[in-house]
Amino acid sequence: MRYVSTRGGAPALDFRGATLAGLASDGGLYVPEAWPRLSHDEIAALAGLSYAETAARVMAPFVGDALTTDELRALCEAAYGRFAHAAVTPLVQLDHDQWLLELFHGPTLAFKDVALQLLGLLFERFLAGTSDHLTIIGATSGDTGSAAIDAVAGRMGVNIFMLHPEGRVSDVQRRQMTTVLAPNVHNIAISGDFDTAQALVKAMFNDAAFASRFRLSAVNSINWARLMAQVVYYFYAAVRLGAPQRAVAFSVPTGNFGDVFAGYVAAKMGLPIVKLIVATNVNDILHRALSSGDYSSSAVVATPTPSMDIQVSSNFERLLFDLGGRDGDALAGQMRGFEASRAMRLTNAQREGAASLFASDRVDIDDMTRAMRWAYESAGQVIDPHTAIGLAAARRANVDVPMVTLATAHPAKFGDAVERATGVRPSLPSRIGDLFDREERCTTLPATFNAVTGFIGERAAARG
Ligand SMILES: *Cc1c(COP(=O)(O)O)cnc(C)c1O
Repeated sequence: MRYVSTRGGAPALDFRGATLAGLASDGGLYVPEAWPRLSHDEIAALAGLSYAETAARVMAPFVGDALTTDELRALCEAAYGRFAHAAVTPLVQLDHDQWLLELFHGPTLAFKDVALQLLGLLFERFLAGTSDHLTIIGATSGDTGSAAIDAVAGRMGVNIFMLHPEGRVSDVQRRQMTTVLAPNVHNIAISGDFDTAQALVKAMFNDAAFASRFRLSAVNSINWARLMAQVVYYFYAAVRLGAPQRAVAFSVPTGNFGDVFAGYVAAKMGLPIVKLIVATNVNDILHRALSSGDYSSSAVVATPTPSMDIQVSSNFERLLFDLGGRDGDALAGQMRGFEASRAMRLTNAQREGAASLFASDRVDIDDMTRAMRWAYESAGQVIDPHTAIGLAAARRANVDVPMVTLATAHPAKFGDAVERATGVRPSLPSRIGDLFDREERCTTLPATFNAVTGFIGERAAARG
């Protein structure tokens, strides 16, 4: 399988190359040259398989010959063996047609573990026996950072620098990052919001000299391998609800459009998904884009769902590329326009293509709170605020197939908001244990390119 850039100006790479590169050198994102399809029989044959085996089968066409079948299966078993639930991503039924897919049983309690535990192992596997040394740089609105740090802490050949917006992540989220004291882990608090941090990361990747000197790589969902790993749980859930004979719908609490784009990929591969609901909080750029074609970014509003407080959704570019006839030059122009003016219109082809699979909804704090109460009072489920955004949208949607809301974080990660809504304080699972007693390590820096690259240069050089 070859991977091409959405902006048409970077060399095509194989799976190993796309995984190690993250962002393409022309500023675009890597996507497979063509979508592989699983036949009706191949999907039916996933029934009853373990999560790790399902993962190996769904990902095999994307991995191509970069790994043998046995190597891929062994990596999946290692990655998903660290999850606290035997089903890895269990389904929970809420009423006769509403379901939750619990994606938070990994080491850091958010769905991002599902992809990043595998990505950490892929990095190590692809770097083993080479003299390459990767510098992973990421920006996090909370959950990516802790999941990425957990996935690469102490791994050979990799340094990680994680930027988070100072004071805008929850205490649990911050501590899950800053209490990891492995020498290859560097936490940076940026005075600014998430989009500022993400823009700094993009600028470092776009600085060719800096990027090649430190061999930068990405763990944000701009890395294709992450999206690929997320495609798996759409198959895993849908097959348990009757696919391929029976169709399903998913509601996805969305920020960077990574998780829901993985659902789009699953549909492209032949999984019968009738609707993908893009559920946003009041930072609703995606809802506006999908409902009226207006992709224009405004100031980020801080909400109880910080992992969705995003006004530029990096993975949306992948969808626009695929729906716009895969014309890299045209998309590069469209994205340059957006980067200059912070606004763009979707083309008719992009709008119509999106409308055939996606719906969108904007959920405010009152609706989010009502969804948390409903889940608790009617179904006995304590859910986190992000999941509640998805569930509120799922319950308002009009579809006549099983509706699966992706439960993206463990409620204890956002205990204050959960307690406010339901009166119940969820306790941290024992595997998180003494988080609040551990030592923290973090450097605060101004949100400037020079401050951040200077720090990275010093620390990366200090490790040789
Ligand atoms: C990251 C995250 C999201 C948003 O996922 P995207 O892939 O960025 O759309 C939603 N909920 C939680 C808890 C998250 O950590």
